[in-house]
Amino acid sequence: MSLPVRRFDAVIVGGGGAGLRAALQLSKAGLNTVVLSKVFPTRSHTVAAQGGISASLGNVQEDRWDWHMYDTVKGSDWLGDQDAIEFMTRRAPEAVIELEHMGMPFDRVESGKIYQRPFGGHTAEHGKRAVERACAVADRTGHAMLHTLYQQNVRANTQFFVEWMALDLIRNDDGDVIGVTALEMETGDVYILHAKAVLFATGGAGRIYASSTNAFMNTGDGLGMAARAGIPLEDMEFWQFHPTGVAGAGVLITEGVRGEGGILLNCDGERFMERYAPTVKDLASRDVVSRAMAMEIHEGRGVGKNKDHVLLKIDHIGAEKIIEKLPGIREISIQFAGIDPIKDPIPVVPTCHYMMGGIPTNYHGEVVAPKGDNPEVVVKGFYAAGECACASVHGANRLGTNSLLDLVVFGKAAGDSMIEFIKNYGDLKPLPENAADFTLARLSRLENQTGGENVDEVRRELQRTVQAHAGVFRTDALLKEGVDKIRAVAQKVAKTEIKDKSRVWNTARIEALELDNLIEVALATLISAEARKESRGAHASDDHPERDDDNWMKHTLFYSADQRLTYKPVHTQPLTVDYIKPAKRVY
Ligand SMILES: Cc1cc2nc3c(=O)[nH]c(=O)nc-3n(C[C@H](O)[C@H](O)[C@H](O)COP(=O)(O)OP(=O)(O)OC[C@H]3O[C@@H](n4cnc5c(N)ncnc54)[C@H](O)[C@@H]3O)c2cc1C
Repeated sequence: MSLPVRRFDAVIVGGGGAGLRAALQLSKAGLNTVVLSKVFPTRSHTVAAQGGISASLGNVQEDRWDWHMYDTVKGSDWLGDQDAIEFMTRRAPEAVIELEHMGMPFDRVESGKIYQRPFGGHTAEHGKRAVERACAVADRTGHAMLHTLYQQNVRANTQFFVEWMALDLIRNDDGDVIGVTALEMETGDVYILHAKAVLFATGGAGRIYASSTNAFMNTGDGLGMAARAGIPLEDMEFWQFHPTGVAGAGVLITEGVRGEGGILLNCDGERFMERYAPTVKDLASRDVVSRAMAMEIHEGRGVGKNKDHVLLKIDHIGAEKIIEKLPGIREISIQFAGIDPIKDPIPVVPTCHYMMGGIPTNYHGEVVAPKGDNPEVVVKGFYAAGECACASVHGANRLGTNSLLDLVVFGKAAGDSMIEFIKNYGDLKPLPENAADFTLARLSRLENQTGGENVDEVRRELQRTVQAHAGVFRTDALLKEGVDKIRAVAQKVAKTEIKDKSRVWNTARIEALELDNLIEVALATLISAEARKESRGAHASDDHPERDDDNWMKHTLFYSADQRLTYKPVHTQPLTVDYIKPAKRVY
């Protein structure tokens, strides 16, 4: 069966920070560009980012881009690619000033310059002291950024297909990417979007965990589509747990709270981070703080009836500062924890927050995959940026505020690469006869199969499995059991069906299609984590507590078709400066 075809120069899947930044480049260049989004663009998950965007502006204290680079390499536990990290940190000041000029309403210091606050892992002179590097709009930085970028796109006449869901990638016989299939949610109609270049900016996939700071829409669609089309997924064992999710609810309390002076306490009222990170204490990197909190809880020093969380105390900085700098956090605490942080400490636990891995790209935003002896051959016509991509600047652990920076730096870089590619492209390449067959077979299975599995139940089983077997603490046995369990869940996903055939709502269809993506991400996560026999960044194994640079300083690549792993080297050589040699990661 054939589908209606719509034709473009460029298709961008995702209307968050990364997608919108790329779209702006393309629209301004006069290319026929469409942005698809499952939700209205300004409801994309970027809107939830609280604490800030990093740039070594030095507005509060002396700062330098190479100190930012050092912190990012160290934060990544030496798994980040140093060429991409130099590219990003060098461009950070320019990227933030550009946002300011677009109208992003940053907070200000007295001199009128952009306000900057301290954040976990941000230091001066290679770890000597904490530095103010996070540029913030109160505790609603992502909201301000997303609205600014959206308005600029409206001005540049970008086309939006709102509430459209991309379903599968279309590749031709040469392996080039030449479009996607997509569902218009309102009507249920499916189309082929035929293009010269496709960018995935589909955000994170935190919904593979039962407890997550991520929105319900973060189902890893870009990764699922790429994996089904034969593209490997990189470094999927590395998931960041944010130290301060509201206990019981998972909603995020930004690190900016600790940046403004908040401290973590155990049941004895002890500021325990002084023991784990004597120099920067509560502002150590996220994985370090998360593990310290898990250790306190594990050893019986947790707070509450079940001793299952710790406390984040902020009242000592004063009501005026809390109301001025952290209004959203106060609101969240009142709504989700029933306490006012002006008077009482907030109950917090580590919660799944950010995916360091993703679709492999270089720092131009081009998707790369191994071919023959070359581990990084460009997949023509295919680009990725933002949380769904792995450039890899975050390596084994992302520094807070480096994601918003990643979106604008690599969104723009991907846009520029696409413009160059499209300039020399000529006519659209012909669509293969079977371009939509795979998508149509998936849809047909969901609607016609009988006696299959219930989507909601299988999704919950998937989330429970990942939460229990790929959390903050990992052991060989736990991971092995997790791999077996998630493979069993995958068998069930392949047999899901929409149960009530008399009334097939598009929401039911969408949840079922999202599950096909969640399972790709969950399989990649558990299989990659089980294989890595060391502790690095967010991947902490009780059986292999040390980092092992001799054997494991390499990126994992997971292939969905045969659930195979291969590895590729870390880019140790920066673009212009000296290699930052591996060292023990202490704060
Ligand atoms: C609570 C919270 C606070 C955070 N705070 C900070 C912070 O202070 N600083 C920082 O640097 N980082 C922060 N982060 C991380 C950062 O916000 C995210 O990594 C980043 O915003 C992701 O942006 P994105 O553009 O990649 O994706 P998103 O903003 O998530 O956008 C994804 C887009 O893809 C679309 N999409 C997905 N699948 C499909 C599909 N199949 N078809 C069509 N469209 C699709 C969605 O509709 C959406 O438009 C925070 C994260 C969370 C969860």
